Amino acid sequence: MRVVVDLTRCQGYAQCAFLAPEVFHMVGDEALMFDPAPDDSLRKQVLRAAAACPVQALQVDMSISPRREAPPAGTASPKTEELKRNGRIVIVGASLAGLRAAEMLRSEGFTGTLTMVGDEPHDPYDRPPLSKQVQTGWVTSADTALPRRCDVDAEWRLGTAATGLDRQRNVVQLADGAELEFDRVLISTGVRARPWPVAHEAELDGVFTLRTREDAAGLREKLMAKPRRVLVIGAGFTGSEMASVCVELGVPVTVAQSGPVPLYGALGAVIGRISAEIMRERGVDLRNDTRVTSLEGDGGRLRRAHLSDGTVLDVDVAVVALGGIRNVEWLQGSGLAVGEWGLACDTGCRAFDANALVTDDVFVAGDVARQRQPMFNYQYVTLEHWSNSVTQAEVAAHNMISAESDRWPHLAVPAFWSLQFGNNIKSVGAPPIADQIAVTQGSVADRRFIAAYGYHGRVVGAVSFNLGRRLDYYAGLIEQAAPFPLGPELTNSADDPSAVPAEFPERTFPGYDATVVVTGQDPSERRATLVHATLARRNR
Ligand SMILES: Cc1cc2nc3c(=O)[nH]c(=O)nc-3n(C[C@H](O)[C@H](O)[C@H](O)COP(=O)(O)OP(=O)(O)OC[C@H]3O[C@@H](n4cnc5c(N)ncnc54)[C@H](O)[C@@H]3O)c2cc1C
Repeated sequence: MRVVVDLTRCQGYAQCAFLAPEVFHMVGDEALMFDPAPDDSLRKQVLRAAAACPVQALQVDMSISPRREAPPAGTASPKTEELKRNGRIVIVGASLAGLRAAEMLRSEGFTGTLTMVGDEPHDPYDRPPLSKQVQTGWVTSADTALPRRCDVDAEWRLGTAATGLDRQRNVVQLADGAELEFDRVLISTGVRARPWPVAHEAELDGVFTLRTREDAAGLREKLMAKPRRVLVIGAGFTGSEMASVCVELGVPVTVAQSGPVPLYGALGAVIGRISAEIMRERGVDLRNDTRVTSLEGDGGRLRRAHLSDGTVLDVDVAVVALGGIRNVEWLQGSGLAVGEWGLACDTGCRAFDANALVTDDVFVAGDVARQRQPMFNYQYVTLEHWSNSVTQAEVAAHNMISAESDRWPHLAVPAFWSLQFGNNIKSVGAPPIADQIAVTQGSVADRRFIAAYGYHGRVVGAVSFNLGRRLDYYAGLIEQAAPFPLGPELTNSADDPSAVPAEFPERTFPGYDATVVVTGQDPSERRATLVHATLARRNR
């Protein structure tokens, strides 16, 4: 059977670990690890655990029933009814967002044809375990298929990439030459790992990125072969989680990164300094402000790494954790507002075209979506968070088959989790847009605390270390645009609760601006220009 736990929702009540200990177990007080593919003989215990979960965070195969028939006519326009009954929907990107959208379409009564296009040959699978349970050896990467919450009754085109989108003819073009006509298309092509920039070094045996099942399986195999040392390049979430795995496996590890502290871009330097302390306490050789200048091989195998601080390390494995590249190249020429920051869309997940006009038949969800967020001054926000992919996909699917007056906005407060060195790190909101931070509860020294982030006097985010149960409260403050700093009646930290600069990297991306500018007074001279393209040129 297949199981997945929504770890943003999980609050560590441990009911599941009590009722099905073979499948779920706690790490520390509140972090949960689970087996995504438990034996069928455990189904009864798993279902009991799912029913007992106080926050309903467990998802199991076939846990929702799709409507087999379209709802009675009369609630929407004949056009919408016809779309719902006999429409053609194509979903490009058959992973978390794509699958959740397909399930939502069926559960909302869509009875037309559904085609799922995915360039990976696998059924949709879950990526978070690839840097956690898979690397520590609890499960294999083949065990990570996502549960099907209902029968999506789709035609699956797996192992086939979409190569183009023709919006004149409403057609998705595939690499095998096929064309798929659609009434609605969902774009959920996500992100791929940014490779090591020097191709012949990237090809050395022992150099890995970590995004796919294949990456995870290869890396696990190398870690099991007792490498002399692992070099992790980059100290974002994936890099930090890999350092943690190496410590757990007893493999010597160096983390080299160009930023001043780990997690700098995601959580800022105040939290990053705490993360650096944790890494060093646990024996990680952390090199901040240090670039890897070259990787050196011997007989095609990685042997050494040269660092900008002058050191040469003997390493057998390098994990390149330099973030992602959005999978949008196939949309070049489609006329959509697409670029390195993703595909821009409105709050209802409808894609914008390059003239900033909203489309009505092209929708977007997941890591590839760059969405206007009412909660954050209608800034465009791109998130690479599991729960964002799920909620955005559900909103997109609902809106694809709903009349305009029934559409939903995607207003879920962003949320993220990570497990590092036994610490359950969770965040809500959008910390990177903050200018200030204040510890509001618990104690940093105990590694049990919450810090709130503020931007222009409003709460915009929060991060917890081993106090995740209280984060829902902060999500509420973010939704209400509560004043920042919080008043003394709302804080009970043992530490100094004063607000200090959050210390994020200087922003070089157009996160606060429009996607498109239109220039020219005379209509015949007007030109729509993608802002990110202009900025990218300026930054070169
Ligand atoms: C190692 C790892 C650990 C993670 N840990 C966490 C965590 O702890 N917490 C958390 O909140 N999030 C975590 N994430 C992030 C989370 O997994 C992603 O947010 C989520 O997978 C995004 O889903 P998606 O469907 O939008 O995109 P993806 O999962 O990237 O899927 C996109 C799919 O589209 C396919 N595709 C691309 N181009 C084309 C094309 N032209 N034609 C057809 N198919 C195409 C891709 O190959 C892929 O299969 C982690 C991610 C990774 C890689």
